[in-house]
Amino acid sequence: MKFEYQESHKRSSQKHCQSKKDAGFPSSPPSAELCQNIVSDFCADTSPDVFEETGCAVCGKLTPICTMEELSEVENVSLLKADGVTRKARSKGSDPVKELRGPILAPACNKVCPICADSLDKTKVPTLALANGLWIGEIPDELQGLTYAEQLLIARVRHNRCIVKVSSGMYKMRANAISFSNPMPKIYNVLPPPIEEMDEVLAFIYTGPCKPTKADFKWTPMLVRRLKVSKALHWLKLNHADYYDCENSEKNLASYPEDGPPVVVDYLWEWAIALHGRGLVPLGADKFYINYCLRHIVSHN
Ligand SMILES: [Zn+2]
Repeated sequence: MKFEYQESHKRSSQKHCQSKKDAGFPSSPPSAELCQNIVSDFCADTSPDVFEETGCAVCGKLTPICTMEELSEVENVSLLKADGVTRKARSKGSDPVKELRGPILAPACNKVCPICADSLDKTKVPTLALANGLWIGEIPDELQGLTYAEQLLIARVRHNRCIVKVSSGMYKMRANAISFSNPMPKIYNVLPPPIEEMDEVLAFIYTGPCKPTKADFKWTPMLVRRLKVSKALHWLKLNHADYYDCENSEKNLASYPEDGPPVVVDYLWEWAIALHGRGLVPLGADKFYINYCLRHIVSHN
């Protein structure tokens, strides 16, 4: 038995050595055919068709196009008609409240993801279909491109306290506290809020070698464009169910600066010198940082 084993082992090791000799070292370069196969396979695997995505017309989810079906080829699209889900945008108060007609589909989408297509094939409305109460419509121009400060001005409830730091033209959120108190202490019936109230929710620190100019403020998320805020509030009042009883205050809006941050700046030079002396503010800190420290200290004493 042992002898047999030794023989077979010897044979297999000889075979292994022979195959090694055949392979040679260093190995020969890959053939032209193999190279061509590798390149064409790589091109096929990384071509845009494999990973290009588009929105599903039924649920809106981004899905690789190669797995999707054409909307015209999907059956039972009529199942996506639903009442009380959509609402036509109104441009003035006298316009009647109307719903969109026909199946509820994502605009500018003409393909359907496999999950939705499969569900419709079984004559079932897909769980995540827009027609299932998930429709919100296209974002109107009035609500697009709002800066952070402008978004704060049109919100009816404030639950964030933010410190935004701008340094050398770049900006970032330095600190952000979110707190939902129950019951809600204040729901704004008049928007935008008085400019003084913005100080409670927002602190703005600007650091740099010199005082920020109007051009600097244009790069910050703190910019408030009155016309943009006014248009956004007007659109919300006409089209958003939660804003129907909200009053748009032109007087409050006019109190906001057109090209600066909406935070009240009340800078006291004597205080700043005293703070330098006590080591509370670093030497060379600019006006806005000192101002922020001042308010912080006052509110804690
Ligand atoms: Zn879908």
